[in-house]
Amino acid sequence: MAYTEQRVLTTRQWSEKTFSFTTTRPRDFRFDNGEFVTIGLRVDGKLIARAYSIVSTNDAEYLEFLSIHVPDGPLTSRLAKVRVGDDVWVNSKATGSLTLSYVRPGRHLFLLATGTGLAPFMCLIRSEQTYQAFSRVILLHTVRSARELAYREQIEALAGPRLSYVPSVTREPFTLNRRCSDLVKSGELYTHCGLPPADPQQDGFMICGNPLMNKEMTDYLQAQGWTLTNHRGVGNFTVEKAFVLHHES
Ligand SMILES: Cc1cc2nc3c(=O)[nH]c(=O)nc-3n(C[C@H](O)[C@H](O)[C@H](O)COP(=O)(O)OP(=O)(O)OC[C@H]3O[C@@H](n4cnc5c(N)ncnc54)[C@H](O)[C@@H]3O)c2cc1C
Repeated sequence: MAYTEQRVLTTRQWSEKTFSFTTTRPRDFRFDNGEFVTIGLRVDGKLIARAYSIVSTNDAEYLEFLSIHVPDGPLTSRLAKVRVGDDVWVNSKATGSLTLSYVRPGRHLFLLATGTGLAPFMCLIRSEQTYQAFSRVILLHTVRSARELAYREQIEALAGPRLSYVPSVTREPFTLNRRCSDLVKSGELYTHCGLPPADPQQDGFMICGNPLMNKEMTDYLQAQGWTLTNHRGVGNFTVEKAFVLHHES
């Protein structure tokens, strides 16, 4: 069977809408940093499973996930209640398009996340390979309220000459109040970090956000001459949905 039962080791509540947890790691489970895996809970003998980006790096002994809490969501209404010692089912196969093999190496790597779209980037910013491929990484995380800035202290501790951390909050007062895509399009992101504008010849983008942000950024970057990685080849930007809207699935 593809799923194995893993034990919850720790849990952490970030806001009323977001939480994270760690589990034991299935034996022989391999993944590339930035990938997602399907995880789930058994309810009345039936498995309810959903895609989750892996927060922990592939050299860690445990797995970590960052989750939304959708009050009437089939999985997360229950997942939000898991406690240390409970079981979560984890699939044996990870996949995804937010790994380093999906962007040509270069100068600056821009990671754009909204909400739980931060998860795969938490993994990438802690991986040495990311800094071997790019001399500088810029992580932009946009959320509605500051409490949803999960892992903020951890990221601030990592920030320095190789990593810029740019949090933005759209629904309450904060240093930066603009949407992720507006910060890029207006050029404010670059001035904020003291960097030249992103250059398709030298830089890369990875995008993991709500479906509308993903589409807006994809359209914008393509119009600016950037190439999305697809079956025809590796370009300078790659996109993955942080979730699927009901009417899309
Ligand atoms: C490739 C991929 C990776 C994903 N990685 C993560 C992850 O790391 N963490 C995570 O929490 N979710 C992630 N998701 C979403 C996840 O698969 C589930 O949709 C989510 O856990 C909610 O499950 P549910 O059964 O409670 O509700 P669902 O029936 O799955 O969703 C109900 C509705 O809730 C909203 N929604 C779902 N997920 C989110 C979200 N993350 N943020 C905001 N609104 C949402 C959408 O409007 C959706 O239509 C990912 C989805 C995809 C496709």
